[in-house]
Amino acid sequence: MRNKRTVRIGDRVIGGNEPVLIQSMTNTDTADVDATVSQILSLEEAGCEIIRVAAYDVRSACAIEGIKERIHIPLVADVHFDADIAIAAIEHGADKVRINPGNIGSEANVRRVADAAKMHHVPIRVGANSGSLDSKYQGMDMADALYESALGNIRMLENAGFHDIVVALKSSDVRESIRAYRKMDASFDYPLHVGVTEAGDFEQSIVKSSIGIGGLLADDIGDTIRVSVTGDPILEIKAAKDILRFSGVRSFGPEIISCPTCARTEIDLIGLTGKVKELVKDIDRDIRIAVMGCIVNGPGEARNADIGIAGGKGEGLIFKKGIPVIKVREEELFDTFREYLKEYLSE
Ligand code: SF4
Repeated sequence: MRNKRTVRIGDRVIGGNEPVLIQSMTNTDTADVDATVSQILSLEEAGCEIIRVAAYDVRSACAIEGIKERIHIPLVADVHFDADIAIAAIEHGADKVRINPGNIGSEANVRRVADAAKMHHVPIRVGANSGSLDSKYQGMDMADALYESALGNIRMLENAGFHDIVVALKSSDVRESIRAYRKMDASFDYPLHVGVTEAGDFEQSIVKSSIGIGGLLADDIGDTIRVSVTGDPILEIKAAKDILRFSGVRSFGPEIISCPTCARTEIDLIGLTGKVKELVKDIDRDIRIAVMGCIVNGPGEARNADIGIAGGKGEGLIFKKGIPVIKVREEELFDTFREYLKEYLSE
């Protein structure tokens, strides 16, 4: 259910009926302000909407102030073990802090961070990570252990009178993650940051994240997402956009529906799909475009598409919403499609 309480992170709001936002994390040294700003600006351009940086000591926490002056999206400080670092990050402009109350020390330390966060109107993300669970959860079902651990963290903040909370339950196991998030979603109205952690390189992560994040989004669970990739974080953004788009929760411009080709295909469908993809890459409008291999099945199978092409023997068909519009020779197919697309976009 997505009737979560709303939480403000800088100039963005998550939860409620707000869009699910894309988050990523820098892998530069946070204390190196120039390098970190440069990476964040590239991520912004790619579509990143919230950025997390590791604040690993007081100096890197203080660097947040200089970073914030030069970026345009909310910044989350990721802090472990030390309440003073979390407080420094908050005082130097972090829009949200991610802490693990279980490793930040005493309840008094948690209260100090909560008080600083409250004073600066900064939310706190808490949660469990399968890699750093307390030994008391040993032997427990992992999804239950993640839930219980996060629950303990939530209670610590609530006891400090703090409710501006975002929760994450990260496991590198897809099924464990899904079960843990479902349980948390059913129990609390705190917004959820969703992801499969340590998901591996791009190829592996895209599959694990699509199943894990996509499966949760299909159930309307998740308010921010991160696709974790071992590699350039820019890759995370494209994957995150596609997961949001194909889960049906956000749209990001044109979507191309193309058939896998089969023995009925009598045109160069792969080449044609590439040309259409290139043609629409800068169009900033939600539109479904079909590129199908045959006239027999193409228009019908792609009737959801706003406009499409179906190939034939030496010829092709342009169709709109499954209805044929014009049949032309294969050589003229792409140019004709371009004209009809232009007309469709100007309607
Ligand atoms: S649309 Fe036609 S060519 Fe493409 S896979 Fe289906 S039957 Fe084959």
